[in-house]
Amino acid sequence: MNKSIRNIALFAHVDAGKTTITEQFLFLSGKIRELGSVDKGNSQTDNLQVEKERGITVNSTVLTFDWDNTQINLIDTPGHIDFSSETEKAIMAIDAAVVIISASEGVQAQTENMVQLLKNHKKPFIIFINKIDRIGANTDDVIQEIEKDLNVNVFKTQNTINESNDDADIETIWSVNNFKNETSLIEKIVENNDNLFEQYLDGNIPDWEILNDELKKNIFNIVPVLFGSAKKALGIKELLNAIIAFLPNPKINSEELSGIVFKTYHKKADGKICAVRLFGGTINSRSEINNASKKLIEKISLIKNTDIQNQKIIQSFSAGEIAWVQGLKSAEPGDLLGNKILDIENKEKTQSLLTVQIIPKDKAKINALIDAMQILNNEDPDLKLSYLKEESELHINIRGEIQKEILEAILKSRFDIEVEFSEPSVIYKETPTISCEGFVRYWLPKPCWAIMKFKIEPGEQGSGVEYKSIVSVNDIKKQYQKDVEKTIPTALQQGILAWQVDDIKITLIEGEDHEVHTKSNDFAIATPMGIMEGLSKSKPTLLEPILSFKLVAPEEYLGTLISELLKLRAKLDKQEISNSTCKITGEIPLATSLNFPIKLSSLTSGKGKIITKFLSYQKCDNELGKTREYKGISPLDTAKYILKARKALS
Ligand code: GDP
Repeated sequence: MNKSIRNIALFAHVDAGKTTITEQFLFLSGKIRELGSVDKGNSQTDNLQVEKERGITVNSTVLTFDWDNTQINLIDTPGHIDFSSETEKAIMAIDAAVVIISASEGVQAQTENMVQLLKNHKKPFIIFINKIDRIGANTDDVIQEIEKDLNVNVFKTQNTINESNDDADIETIWSVNNFKNETSLIEKIVENNDNLFEQYLDGNIPDWEILNDELKKNIFNIVPVLFGSAKKALGIKELLNAIIAFLPNPKINSEELSGIVFKTYHKKADGKICAVRLFGGTINSRSEINNASKKLIEKISLIKNTDIQNQKIIQSFSAGEIAWVQGLKSAEPGDLLGNKILDIENKEKTQSLLTVQIIPKDKAKINALIDAMQILNNEDPDLKLSYLKEESELHINIRGEIQKEILEAILKSRFDIEVEFSEPSVIYKETPTISCEGFVRYWLPKPCWAIMKFKIEPGEQGSGVEYKSIVSVNDIKKQYQKDVEKTIPTALQQGILAWQVDDIKITLIEGEDHEVHTKSNDFAIATPMGIMEGLSKSKPTLLEPILSFKLVAPEEYLGTLISELLKLRAKLDKQEISNSTCKITGEIPLATSLNFPIKLSSLTSGKGKIITKFLSYQKCDNELGKTREYKGISPLDTAKYILKARKALS
C-alpha cells in the first residue's frame, strides 16, 4: 500500500446529522453531482437503502471517496449502540473515527457509550459539533459536557460566530497564519514533549509543522474539535481536512496476511459476500486463505473494490485496504483471516443479555422466517438463534430493545416477512449451591453401554465451567472420555431451572465401558443424563446479569434517585456533588433496570443521564428472577431423551 488512506467511521447519536454529513462528503468529493436531502428522502444513503431493500447492490457498509489525494473509506456503523456487536466489528476494521454531536442537544448517553467503546478499542477520534445554526445551539455548554462527561482533552480548532442563528459561521483559529496567537492550544501540545516544552519556556514557538506532527502523535490524548452546520455545508471541508491532518494512515502490522471480516451479505446470484479489512499482507483473487476463527482454508473467487459508484473487479488488495470478497463461504462477521492472528487486545465483547421469541405475523410464514433468521444469524452469530421444534418457536438473544426494531425492519425489507416479538426476558444462568453426585447407567434399550458417576460442585463466582476426569482409561477408553468432555457444554446448556449452568466444577469419578456393547456415541448420549441427574440434587440457584452504572443529575434529585435506586436492588458505591450536579455510581441488576432510563428522565425532567455496562453474573434469589420450563426434551425424561438422541445420530 503506498497511497494515503483513512479508514474511518462516523459515530453519532440519533439525529445528530450523520446522513447529511455523509451526503456532503460525497458531494464535495465529486462522488455525487447533486446533493440529496434527508428530509426529502433522496439522499445517497437513502437511495442505497432502497437499493439494498431490493437486493440490487451492496449497500452503504463502506463508502469510498477521495479528498486531497487521500482515499477515505467511510465504514457504516449501526446508529444505535444496542446493535453493538456489529458496531464492534466495524470498530475493529477502522483506524479512527469522527464523533458527531448536535450543538443543540449536546452529549447524549449514547455519545458516552460510543466514546467509551472507541477508547476501549484504542481508536483515536476527532469531534464535530454539528447544527450550530440551530436555535438553542450552545457550543460552550457542549464543550464543557465533552470535557466533563466524556473526559476528553478538547483542542478547539475553531470559534463559532453568531451561533444559534441562521447565518451562523465558523472561524478557524488553529491555522498556519493564526496559531501563534493561540497560546493555550500550543501549550496543550508542547506539554507532551520535554524538548518542545523547554523550547517554548525559552520563548520559542515551535514551527507549525512540528506542532502538528506532535499533535498527531498525541491524538489519543488531545482531541481536535470542529464546528459546522451540515445542512448549510458549513465546516464540512474543514472536517475533511481535519480527518486527513489529524487522523492516522493505516499502520501496516506485518508482511504476513492478517485481516478481519466485518460484514457479510448473502446474495442469491453471488452467494456470500464479505467486507474484509486487511492489516497485513495481500489477498489475491484465486488465492487460498486461512480463516483462523473457523480453522479452515477457503479459496477467494472474486474481489471487488468498495467504490460503489464505480465498482470494479480487482485482482488483489493489501494491508490497510478494504474490499468485498467472494468465496469465503464459512466466514462470519468478526472472523480473523490469515496466520498471524491480529492483536486486538482490549476488545470488549458486548454480551447479549436479553432473549425474545420472534413470531411471524402470518403463521404460514414460519418456514420462511426460519430460513431468513438463519441467514441473519450467520451475519450476526451473536443472535444465537434457536429453533424449538416441539414448540415450533424461534428464540434469539438481543442486546437491547432497539435491536428488535432493526430486525423487524430488516425482515420486512429484505425478506418480506412481518414479525412481532415476545416481551424480552433477561438471560439468567444457574449454578449449583451444594456438592452432589450424578449417576447414569445407559445400557437399555440394547445395544448400548455407558456407565458414569460425576461429582458436581459449586464453583467460585466467575470461575466458569471446570471439568476433569479421574477415571482410568482402563475403565473408560480415552476416545469415550473425549466424547464426555466434548458433550459437557451441551449438557450444561439448560439445567434444572432451564438456564445455562455456569460456575460449576464437574469431575468424572467412576465409570465403565463395555468391550462389546459400547458403541461410538453411547458416552455422548449418556453424559447429559448423568449431569442432569446430578444437577437435580444440587439445589441450583439463579445467576443474574449485574450492570455497573454511572448516573449524573442535578443535585436536587439526589435523595429521590437514591431511594428509587435502592428499590431496584441497586448497590450504591459512591455519591459526589460538584457544580450542583450529583454523580452516583454503583451496581444494579439488569432485570430491575430495564425501564429505569425512562423513569429517570421523567423524575428529572430529562436532565438525568445514566450509562451502564455489563459487570458480571451474580447469584440471585430464585423468586426474584425467572425460572423456566425445560425447552425440548429433558435428559431427565430418559426414555424420550434416548429415543430422540439416537434418532438424531442415526
Ligand atoms: P442522522 O440521524 O444522524 O443521520 O441525521 P440526519 O442527517 O438524518 O439529520 C437529522 C435532521 O437534522 C434532518 O432533519 C436534517 O435536515 C437536520 N440537520 C442535519 N444537519 C443539520 C444542521 O447542521 N443544522 C440544522 N438546523 N439541521 C440539520
